[in-house]
Amino acid sequence: MTEITAFTVKEALQALETGQVSSLELTKAYLERIQRLEPALHAFITLTPDAALAGAKAADERRAQLKKAGAALPPLLGLPLAVKDVLCVKDVRTTCGSKILENFKPPFNATSVQKLLNAGVVVLGKTNTDEFAMGSSTENSAYGVTHNPWDTERVPGGSSGGSAAAVAACFAPAALGTDTGGSVRQPASFCGVTGIKPTYGRVSRYGLIAYGSSLDSVGVLGRSAEDVETIFRLMAGFDPRDATSLDRPVDEPGCAGAADLKGLRVGVPKEYFIEGIQPEVEARVREAIQVLAAQGAQIVEISLPHTSYALPVYYLIAPAEASANLARYDGVRFGLREENNGVIDMFMKSRGKGFGPEVKRRIMLGTYALSAGYYDAYYGQAQKVRTLIKADFEEAFKSVDVVAAPIAPTTAFKIGGHGDDPLAMYLEDVFTLPANLAGVPGLAFPVGFDAQKLPVGMQLMGRPFEERTLFRAAHVYQQATDFHKQTPAI
Ligand code: GLN
Repeated sequence: MTEITAFTVKEALQALETGQVSSLELTKAYLERIQRLEPALHAFITLTPDAALAGAKAADERRAQLKKAGAALPPLLGLPLAVKDVLCVKDVRTTCGSKILENFKPPFNATSVQKLLNAGVVVLGKTNTDEFAMGSSTENSAYGVTHNPWDTERVPGGSSGGSAAAVAACFAPAALGTDTGGSVRQPASFCGVTGIKPTYGRVSRYGLIAYGSSLDSVGVLGRSAEDVETIFRLMAGFDPRDATSLDRPVDEPGCAGAADLKGLRVGVPKEYFIEGIQPEVEARVREAIQVLAAQGAQIVEISLPHTSYALPVYYLIAPAEASANLARYDGVRFGLREENNGVIDMFMKSRGKGFGPEVKRRIMLGTYALSAGYYDAYYGQAQKVRTLIKADFEEAFKSVDVVAAPIAPTTAFKIGGHGDDPLAMYLEDVFTLPANLAGVPGLAFPVGFDAQKLPVGMQLMGRPFEERTLFRAAHVYQQATDFHKQTPAI
């Protein structure tokens, strides 16, 4: 029998339904595993074992009552879940990986979290993240780095590295992440798990502590396309508290009943297979595309001509938005307040001490790009080029249904491998940034390993609000392969 901590969401829900396990047993099993292995991985910033056990017990009682009454059960009743520490969970410390929010306990739940609590989940704790989700390795967390379960000397990716590591290490059957420029997909790729970055506006950002508001999205990481879709669908939908959430019904699941890919046109953009990409990454992605073809998909070479501009455009727009969003950490309303000699001194000391070096770099870059003399040359120009990147996708989606591409140029790199070179770290994001700039959905899933047995991922990007098509394709792929079923030996 599979160990219960290795269950997929689907298996866990079936086991809860048949009474094979209770939520309390399942939650205890995860907490024990976390206690044993967390020192080697550090996937969490905050664990909430007492609340989780109480929640699990309540879920078991509720199940018994509802069953007795013959009433319908909430779809995820009793399912343990990990949550990235940039999403507000009521009364649970939410740090964003930053010292400035070390003692911040939000008085409310993020809408994404609330919807899943309504569906019955039990929160195990808050996972590690680069400070304010700025990074690609989790090394920028003020609470220490997370280690990749496949090789603990390597990074898990970032910024949702704690969530990806937690799922890969079987600390939880699924975890919430966020993706502003690749932070769900790249760690999913580095840790060999499946993850969705939804269309901008599909999942409410209310209660997601803002980084780049025109780019931020809340996503899910899990062990299969099917699992990720189940949770994604329960989070999706209109929220009057997020002005950019769209009032549009949630699609029927794409995985259910998907048997082949006949009629699906898969575009392969030549700009994503460039010099500098690790040969094994390219090889695994091309093999995976062949699997899609064998399932009936038609493969078409396409061009997304402005791809190479995504990096400079993103690294102007994201820091610009960050500099505005992070202005609220001033020591006045919440967060760190240092001893001071007056208000200006308070701002300087609190922000100076509370923010780490990467966050300070971005605030300075962003403030510069927005400043009166440079706005047109940098921020304004970046917005124009962003439109061209979006137009590339619109053009491509006239002739193909999905775009298949690598996620990162390499597999997981060594902790400290990029030294103090911010540019080397930014280059990790070349293949993930375009989807955020264009607002389109992207689904990451494992497609094999390199020679060192490190996972390689691939992403499928789709038309806005067509997550369903991505899930369908990945599900068919996962029926034909078993890379997503492999787990690291830790
Ligand atoms: N690595 C990118 C950055 O540092 C993306 C991060 C994210 O998606 N949150 O901004």
